[in-house]
Amino acid sequence: MPVPTLRLFFALWPDAATRTIIGELARQVAAESHGRAVASDNIHVTLAFLGTQPVASVPELRSLAAAIRNQPCVLKLDEIGCFRKTGIAWLGASSPPANVVSLQAELVRRLAATGIPPDARPFSPHLTLARRASIVVRRRLIDPVSWNIDSFALVASQLGSEAPRYRLLDEWRAPGEA
Ligand code: ATP
Ligand code: MG
Repeated sequence: MPVPTLRLFFALWPDAATRTIIGELARQVAAESHGRAVASDNIHVTLAFLGTQPVASVPELRSLAAAIRNQPCVLKLDEIGCFRKTGIAWLGASSPPANVVSLQAELVRRLAATGIPPDARPFSPHLTLARRASIVVRRRLIDPVSWNIDSFALVASQLGSEAPRYRLLDEWRAPGEA
């Protein structure tokens, strides 16, 4: 019998208001870049990509995440850019807050201790705004998106022929938040 698996990642998941703001920006940038806007329900910042993992590993991942003390902060997303090769238009942070940087580092450190290797690339928080972009869009936002970060999530991704489908498995709130 094959072992049941899930494609997993830890992510920052936006609140409804932030999702609406970024969703609107995604539509603008998709139009400018001749790409396809990401569905606003799919907007996220990946903290750590775990790849395909046995379903049985989820309880360990949950307790690993629950042990992290994440502090609330504001993530200012102020840069739009494109990955030419993959046709992805993104929104990123030119100077991410220390709390997000340390949350990501802590996750990666704890994942490595369970045998899940870290991404070799340095962490640079960004999110996909549009796919199949054929015109490069690159600019600094005069009015950055200010995202109040007070939680992070474990997400399962089901890749489909169209957009991937994401399912929030669990979310951990910063202490003292409602
Ligand atoms: P699609 O693969 O259909 O374009 P997607 O990339 O959004 O969709 P996944 O491939 O499941 O969906 O990835 C989930 C998240 O993890 C995305 O934010 C993606 O950018 C990120 N990710 C995927 N693969 C890696 C990887 N090898 N290293 C780091 N992050 C990754
Ligand atoms: Mg992918």
